Amino acid sequence: MPPTLQVALDTPLPRLFDYRLPPDGAPIVPGTLVEVPFGRTRQIGIALGVTDEGGVDPGKLRDVLRVLDDRPPLAPEILRLARFCADYYHHALGAVLLATLPPRLKNAAPFVAETPWLALTDAGRAAELPPRARAQRTLLEALRAGPLARETVRTQKQGRHAAALVAAGWATWTREPPRGTVSPPPTAAPAATTGQQTALDALAPALDRFGVHLVHGVTGSGKTELYLRLIDTVLAAGRQALVLIPEIALTPQLEQHFRRRFPGRQVDTLHSGLAERTRAENWLAAPACDVLLGTRLAVFAPLPRLGLVVVDEEHDASFKQQDGLRYSARDVAIARAQQADVPVVLGSATPSLESYAQALSGRYRLHELTQRAVAAAQLPDIELADLRHLPQDNGLTRPALTALTETLARGEQSLVFLNRRGYAPALYCPSCGWVAPCPHCSARLVLHRTAHRLMCHHCGHEARIPQACPGCGNPDLKPLGQGTQRLEETLAALLPTARIRRIDRDTMRPRAWAELGAAVHGGEVDILVGTQMLAKGHDFPNMTLALILDTDGALYSPDFRTTERLFAQLMQVAGRAGRADKPGRVLIQTAFPDHPLFRFLQRHDYAGYARMLLAERRQLDLPPFSRQVLLRAEAPTMDAALAFLRRAAAQAPDAAPVSVFTPTPAPMARVANLERAQLLVQSASRRALQGFVHDWRPRLEAIRPRVARWSLDVDPLVF
Ligand code: ADP
Ligand code: ZN
Ligand code: ZN
Repeated sequence: MPPTLQVALDTPLPRLFDYRLPPDGAPIVPGTLVEVPFGRTRQIGIALGVTDEGGVDPGKLRDVLRVLDDRPPLAPEILRLARFCADYYHHALGAVLLATLPPRLKNAAPFVAETPWLALTDAGRAAELPPRARAQRTLLEALRAGPLARETVRTQKQGRHAAALVAAGWATWTREPPRGTVSPPPTAAPAATTGQQTALDALAPALDRFGVHLVHGVTGSGKTELYLRLIDTVLAAGRQALVLIPEIALTPQLEQHFRRRFPGRQVDTLHSGLAERTRAENWLAAPACDVLLGTRLAVFAPLPRLGLVVVDEEHDASFKQQDGLRYSARDVAIARAQQADVPVVLGSATPSLESYAQALSGRYRLHELTQRAVAAAQLPDIELADLRHLPQDNGLTRPALTALTETLARGEQSLVFLNRRGYAPALYCPSCGWVAPCPHCSARLVLHRTAHRLMCHHCGHEARIPQACPGCGNPDLKPLGQGTQRLEETLAALLPTARIRRIDRDTMRPRAWAELGAAVHGGEVDILVGTQMLAKGHDFPNMTLALILDTDGALYSPDFRTTERLFAQLMQVAGRAGRADKPGRVLIQTAFPDHPLFRFLQRHDYAGYARMLLAERRQLDLPPFSRQVLLRAEAPTMDAALAFLRRAAAQAPDAAPVSVFTPTPAPMARVANLERAQLLVQSASRRALQGFVHDWRPRLEAIRPRVARWSLDVDPLVF
């Protein structure tokens, strides 16, 4: 048999495909991207090796169309990490490998790296421009502070002037901003707090090898500063740091902060909010960077000198990908650190119970920061307003309104948190009880008044607001309940002098987010209204009141993780109040003031609540005391979806310590015209469960006729 090239392709089939080696005889390193014919299409694949025993009739072998040598092969460490993911998530290796790449590099069109930075040359630094050339001078001045991104030049319509400076030899377009010329002025590290120093002393000797470190630090305790110091040590040793954060919106701030602390170092970002080209360029530049800051997808970036991995807000659900390769970036980060034999630091004010249990058992090393870093900053008082006994005006109780009024009078800022965006969660008819449904989902349409539309938050369906009830013809339809838009309206009516801003996913782009942050810092906002977006890592010193409306739905939800999430969310929101020298106050409206969650929250006692939840989970055999895999199926009818799952359950391998539950409709049973059902498999032993799914998967593939689409979700977070 002649040797053949084995190529991994983006298909659900867990196998490699054989192609004839290119005739030029040039060796192909594993990880090389190739373009190959596949069926009637062309696909980008990853060459993994050459074999003599492909077993394919040489006459049927097809040629590799092209070796994509305009981009580097996938690095050996990424191939290795992908193998781990393919095994652990029971996902085809080819699909995993291609999922690690930025989209632009999966496109066969030749990729030429651009030069995204405009920087001064030595001549430019010395240049004097005549006063007439105002615009060019402004640009030159700006460049004296540091290189500008092409984007910035473009948005400020300075392209023509940039071209003039380049033509004069005063500026040049470069691939990277030249080292040492970072635009923001560098900042020095503050002296470490006692808590930070204790953690540093414990971590320093452990930096040379794999280990999982959980930093549990109250909000404002200076976790970021701790990461920065660890990174500093790692960079001094010539290694790289990977920092994963949950939200795109937060990257610009953090990026700035990092750049200031590490002048002369290459700090790059990677997240889905970047333009495709920039994302590809940053990915290509990653091997040379010092610090890579990014969201979950950055866990797959090539970093040959990796020395430290940090996962900030490690409890955040957005680290879990919810489609395709359903990986947890936190868990993949741990695997990656283990493969590279470097430490991984998980940080949070409210660690996930999974991580916390590992820390309690001693498998992860626990570091606690119990005090806020700024000495005067106290943790806020948390009070409850009992909805059962207090009268309400449009969802606001008297104490809530008083607190807002007083805060406003003191010239301080408030935050009002309502986890429901839109104007009202539903539109209904008071005379017959009709509620506007989504025609494609088992969900109600949400009323958006500014857009004058009804919208489905699950499938994106939009509809006009009907003139009259389709059920009984009643023209007087009413909004039901309260969303952030309506809350904003209510507050504006009750507090006419307050300057109110609303933030939620309807209104926020990263740039708008930065603008809003500046407005709050600049004191142009009195009340900030929003959804859980508000809870994420912002530091507003004059924000002294956090008002939390209507969280009761989450207290008694059937999903066992909702109280854990709610507690984390409330701790984060509470952490927004009183971060500087002013005492903060948190007021929560609830009809269940006796719920144990509030007792722990009022004492700022994460550890106590975590232990209580862990005891419950242990009793019920729930994660982290068991491992779960969810088989999800989607079909045009619920019957078909359930029938597939019943066959799947019947095909389950015999494995004693694994429980296979009964197929059930998913909690959101219908989304975008597909009915969804699921089958839970659980075991106390991760190894047993892995072995079970390994044997089960080929049987699932063999189920015919295949009426349902299915996928496996290992360690599912949402059901
Ligand atoms: P966390 O991430 O734990 O919520 P941050 O790292 O954002 O906390 O720190 C909270 C505030 O404390 C920030 O304003 C930060 O600049 C400040 N801070 C952190 N460490 C120190 C320190 N050692 N000395 C003085 N201020 C500090
Ligand atoms: Zn009606
Ligand atoms: Zn819908």
